[in-house]
Amino acid sequence: MFDKILIANRGEIALRILRAAKELGVATVAVYSTADKDAMHVKLADESVCIGPPTARDSYLNIPALLAACEITGADAIHPGYGFLSENARFAEILAEHNIVFIGPKAEHIRIMGDKIEAKRTARRLGIPCVPGSEGAIDSEKQALKLANEMGYPVLVKAAAGGGGRGMKVARSKDELPHAIATAKAEAKAAFGDDAVYLEKYLEKPRHIEVQILGDGQGGAIHLGERDCSLQRRHQKVWEESPSPALNEAQRMEIGEICAKAMRELEYSGAGTIEFLYEDGKFYFIEMNTRIQVEHPVTEMITGIDLVCEQIKVAAGSPLSMTQKDVKFFGHAIECRVNAEHHATFRPSPGTIAYYHTPGGVGVRVDSAVYQGYAIPPNYDSLVGKLIVHGRTRNEALMRLRRALDEFIVDGIDTTLPLFRQLVRIPDIQNGLYDIHWLERFLSSGGLDGAA
Ligand code: ADP
Repeated sequence: MFDKILIANRGEIALRILRAAKELGVATVAVYSTADKDAMHVKLADESVCIGPPTARDSYLNIPALLAACEITGADAIHPGYGFLSENARFAEILAEHNIVFIGPKAEHIRIMGDKIEAKRTARRLGIPCVPGSEGAIDSEKQALKLANEMGYPVLVKAAAGGGGRGMKVARSKDELPHAIATAKAEAKAAFGDDAVYLEKYLEKPRHIEVQILGDGQGGAIHLGERDCSLQRRHQKVWEESPSPALNEAQRMEIGEICAKAMRELEYSGAGTIEFLYEDGKFYFIEMNTRIQVEHPVTEMITGIDLVCEQIKVAAGSPLSMTQKDVKFFGHAIECRVNAEHHATFRPSPGTIAYYHTPGGVGVRVDSAVYQGYAIPPNYDSLVGKLIVHGRTRNEALMRLRRALDEFIVDGIDTTLPLFRQLVRIPDIQNGLYDIHWLERFLSSGGLDGAA
C-alpha cells in the first residue's frame, strides 16, 4: 500500500478520496489554489500545499507544481479525482517517469478512450454494441452525405475530441448536413484544438445508461451494474439512479457481462464507466470514461462497495478483492446534483453560504465539501453537493428523497434544490418514464415555478 496519496483535485471529490485514504490508513496531501485556501479538503488533509493562483490552468492543471508538491511531501501516488487531469494520458506517463503512481488506468487506455473515434473502434473490436455511424473521421462533405443517406436522417455530427456535449450538431435532412458539419468543426476547433468530426445515427428518444466496471490490470474485471443518467440539461447529468427503471435483471447482467469481458480482454485497471444510449431494448456505446465519476455513489449504495478504496487498492498492485458472484445488488439509489445555480434560470450563484443544514436519517448520504460561512468561489464548477438516497425499492428511495430534499437548507445562494423538490413529485419521474430529452422538454414548457 502507498505511504501518502496526493489528491490532485478540490471540492467534494477531494473529500471523498481523503475519506477512502484515511480508512485505508494512508496519509493524505491536499493541494489548493489561492481561491481554495479555506476549502474543507485543505482543513481535513494531513498536509496541504498551495499550488498556484485561482485559474485552473495555473493550479489544478499545473503538472510541474503537482510534481513539486509530491517532492516536498514525499507522496508516492496521486489520485486525480474527476475532471482536471483525470483523463490526461500524458500526465499519467509523466508521473510514471517520476516514480509516482497514477491512481487510474494505464496511459494507453486513457489515450484510446479519450479519442472518441478510436474508442468506438476499440469498443466494436471488443464486442461492445455501438451506434451506427462513420468508421472514422469524415474527410469530405460528399462522403458524409453519402453515409447519412445510407443511415437515414436524422444524423449527429460529433467531435472526435468531444466532451461536455460540445461540438455536437444534429442534421435532420441533407440540406442541414453541410452546415452541421461546419459548425461542429468550428466548435471542436475552438474547444479542443482539433476539428476532426464523425457521424452517428441520431437516436430520437434514448435513455442514457452506463455500466460501472472495475479491473485490476491483470486480466480480472467485474461490473457493478448500471446507472440511469437520462435526466440531463444541456447534456449535463442532473439526477442519476441505479438500477435503471428501464432494465430487467437479465438485461442488466447481459450488458454488464459484455462490458466486464471487454475489460478483461483489455487488461483494464481501475474504475471505469462504459456509457450507452438505450432505445427499444438495444444498447449503443457512446464513450468510456476512464476515471471515477460524479455519480459513483449510487452504485456504492446498492452494492456496498467503496469504489474509491478499490481504485486505490488496485493501483497499489492488489488483484480485485471480489469476484462477480460476490457483487450483490440491494435496493435502489438516487442521486441529485445540487448546484449553486438558480433553479429555473440556471444562472450561476457563487457566494457565501449563510446557513447550511444537511438531511440525515436512514438511507441518506450527502457528499459535499461546503459548510456554513464558506464562500463558493466563482472559478470552478457549481456543484454544492450530492444528495444520495437509498431504499429497498424505488418507491422507498423516492419517499426518502422527498423527505430529505425538504430537510436540506442552503441559504445565502441560489441552488437547484427547488427543481428537485418539484421533480420528485411529478408522475413521469415517479414512474421512471423519462428519456434524455425529458428534462429539457419540461423546462422549456415552463413546467417549473418561477421559470424565466
Ligand atoms: P460528451 O463527451 O460531449 O459528453 P457523449 O458522446 O457522451 O459526449 O454524448 C453526450 C450526450 O449527447 C449523451 O448523453 C446524449 O444525451 C447525447 N448524444 C450523444 N450521441 C447521441 C446520438 N447518437 N443520438 C442521440 N443523442 C446523442
